[in-house]
Amino acid sequence: MYCLASLAVLAVTTSARAADVAKPARSTATVPIKTTQLAGPAFPLYANEGELTTACEQGLSVAAAALKQLERRPADTSWLVAYDRFLGLVEDRSSAFDLMISVHPRKQIRDVAQDCQLRWQGFVSSLFQNEKLFAAASKVRPRDATDRHYLRTTLDAFVDGGVALPAGKRGRAKQINDELAELEQKFDATVRESTTKVGFTEAELAGVPPAVWKEAPRDVEGRVLLGLDMPTFVPVMELAGDAAARERMWRAKYAEGGQANLDVLTRIVVLRNEYAGLFDLPSHAAFATRRRMAESPARVALFLDQVQAAVTEREKSELEELRLAKAQHLGVAPQGVRLARWDLAFYTERVRQSRYSVDQEAFRPYLPPEASLAVVMKLVESTMGVRYERVADAPVWHDDVRAYTVRDLASGKALGALYVDLYPREGKYNHAAVWPIRGSAPGRGRVSQAALVVNFNRQGLTLDEFDTLLHEFGHAVHVNLSATRYSGQSGTNVLLDFVEAPSQMLEDRAYDRKVLALFSQVCPNCKPVPDDLLAKAVAAHHYGKGVASARQRLYAAYDLALYSGGVVDPLALWLRMEGATPLGTVEGTLFPASFGHIASGYSAGYYAYLWSQVVALDMRTAFAGNSLDPQVGRRYRHSVIGQGGQRPPAELVREFLGRDFDTRAFYADLKK
Ligand SMILES: [Zn+2]
Repeated sequence: MYCLASLAVLAVTTSARAADVAKPARSTATVPIKTTQLAGPAFPLYANEGELTTACEQGLSVAAAALKQLERRPADTSWLVAYDRFLGLVEDRSSAFDLMISVHPRKQIRDVAQDCQLRWQGFVSSLFQNEKLFAAASKVRPRDATDRHYLRTTLDAFVDGGVALPAGKRGRAKQINDELAELEQKFDATVRESTTKVGFTEAELAGVPPAVWKEAPRDVEGRVLLGLDMPTFVPVMELAGDAAARERMWRAKYAEGGQANLDVLTRIVVLRNEYAGLFDLPSHAAFATRRRMAESPARVALFLDQVQAAVTEREKSELEELRLAKAQHLGVAPQGVRLARWDLAFYTERVRQSRYSVDQEAFRPYLPPEASLAVVMKLVESTMGVRYERVADAPVWHDDVRAYTVRDLASGKALGALYVDLYPREGKYNHAAVWPIRGSAPGRGRVSQAALVVNFNRQGLTLDEFDTLLHEFGHAVHVNLSATRYSGQSGTNVLLDFVEAPSQMLEDRAYDRKVLALFSQVCPNCKPVPDDLLAKAVAAHHYGKGVASARQRLYAAYDLALYSGGVVDPLALWLRMEGATPLGTVEGTLFPASFGHIASGYSAGYYAYLWSQVVALDMRTAFAGNSLDPQVGRRYRHSVIGQGGQRPPAELVREFLGRDFDTRAFYADLKK
């Protein structure tokens, strides 16, 4: 389905890492602030729920009037432009609500924004059943290849929206789409608004940096009450020596969403499969993959089998090493020692530290959040020929949020705006993601806007968190540097199994000495990352990849199986599939109840993370070890990033690499 009012949330899969630092960062960023104008419309702020509701209603009636006008338009050569302008209007009137649901500091506003978003979803599901628009689009004669591609994807979107179905089925398709929108919202809200806290004595938290828990509330018995957000959950899992404490935290995390979300997920899967049935397709997986790079569930399954075959031995030997580390840690003979799920992160970290003497926590003093952001911007500036300028007085939804205008370096022209929301707070989306608020069409002066949302420790980042920042920034770059003819094809409006590639391209730059050297340019007072610390981190970087890749493969295979038709019981399927892995499964776990990706935009699409990685790693070879190469960077900007979805991904990559992409770099990386 073409997703418009509900914009695809492009979340990083690798969770943000530990959230604290042993001592406060000594240096602070001294990033110069150049004030400039925000590119594009200001972010809409509402004083209260009433104002928001009014704006929502006005937006809907403006869009309805614009739709009427579009319906009357002849299907001439300018029809596509008019259609694209109309989609731009819908986006401008609706996309901020989608972001507000996840970031607005006031719950009342988040709630009202949810109601508003549902109304927009209803508008969009009707839109793609509009016979007049479909008839017009079918008659338009494309002027060139760009028009032809846009027309084809537009017609596909209408067909997938149900416009060509017989009347009875069409009505059912709309009902299903509207119910799905509501269910997806419900699923996300249950996880986001959860206030679950787990109690620990201070002794149980031995090993966890005090700054993770020192400020946390206490219960009447003086126990520390910890939430399940990533900056808290991860350090407990990695560093708490007390296995029972880890188990308690782990069980709480994997019960998130609860039976309520399992029920919602079951309904979602049933509805999506029913939807595919309206098109005489056997499953949602078949429906969704047929328009993607992968083309069919069978090809996805084959790919996932190949990934599993490539990592099985490595996963097994890594797990055995962790099991021996556990025996040694407990001072018992290895026979009979079993690894539990809540042991994985702890012993991985322990082996990593003892073998490579590296501690991710040790990076925080060297990677202050704002300087880290400035370094990522510097990297993009120097390789892709753009400039980020801070907009000091732009309206933002919270004081922590920064706004920037991105300009083309050569022409000085504004390309777009970027909002960055760095720190955690109650009720905020607690992973890392980019919201593409506005697609650009530079030919008619329309600029892009994106919001990058992460949850970092104010004291500084670990190197892995810096990597997360780079990944998300890759999505923002995709939105901001897009230069397509039509905004409906701009930036991240690409096939789902390609959308992660531009962000995965920037991953691993955190481990690049040349990139870290940029800190001296943006923050002269920052202490440079010591060479030996970085060398150790680089050596340890690939440790644990067997276990991690096998896990990604399991998530992808589970998602695919869940949406392959047939009887649906998300939990039973998960227990069966996880149960078949070397570590088995755990009674009482409700993991699918909080697996947000598969409830919404990445359904039958979680494999995209691995699939995109094939493309990303191959594209990275073009830089041949020099991640700052401005020639390659500019070529990448123009032939891949700038093209958005106006050409098929394989073509863009062929133009950039001078050949078809292949899997060599991907499988070589799995062996590193
Ligand atoms: Zn991503």
